[in-house]
Amino acid sequence: MAFPERIAIASRNQHKLRELARICADWPTAWVTVETEDPARFPDVEETGETYLDNALLKARAVAEALGIPAIADDSGIEVDALGGKPGPRSARYAGERASDEDNLAALMQAVRGVPRGGRTARYRCAAVIAWPGGEELHAEGVCDGELVPKPTGERGFGYDPIFVPNGRESTMAQLTDHQKDRISHRGRAFRALRTLIPS
Ligand code: IMP
Repeated sequence: MAFPERIAIASRNQHKLRELARICADWPTAWVTVETEDPARFPDVEETGETYLDNALLKARAVAEALGIPAIADDSGIEVDALGGKPGPRSARYAGERASDEDNLAALMQAVRGVPRGGRTARYRCAAVIAWPGGEELHAEGVCDGELVPKPTGERGFGYDPIFVPNGRESTMAQLTDHQKDRISHRGRAFRALRTLIPS
């Protein structure tokens, strides 16, 4: 199997699209996205799976079938130990079905308010998948460990980044440059691992 000449990105999330464009910039392929194609050709997929992997596969399979080319997808979230691993795969809907990133961030800050310093360990996790229209699939996972801080800081990144300090750093994910985030992020790790699985 040769490296695919064209790969679709099964996401409408602008933040993810930007990060994936950077992380996967060296993949020898032509990218097909909602920005290069008619967005109506990309099916809207309901994330009904229980796990990151289930949801990533649902998204990648649907787009691969619809466009007739391989598709990559990411499903990701944040897991807070003091909350028993929540919000996890429901991270995008933590504050409700139509919640914004700001709503979700506020809800998580509220949920960990009583947790003492040192007890706010957390991690981002990402399932990265590629699915071919014929049914073949490959997947990889990436994790970024860290802890939550009470006060949101930083303007970069998205989602929960303003309150997530990766292990080994003094600043939040939202204070890191794109390059610094990609090097240690769950998404960077997952997609670099996925890349090594795709036959060239
Ligand atoms: P989904 O993968 O589209 O279900 O959504 C993942 C959700 O997890 C996002 O909406 C964010 O709330 C959160 N998330 C995933 N990755 C990141 C990240 O790199 N930074 C901040 N939040 C993230």
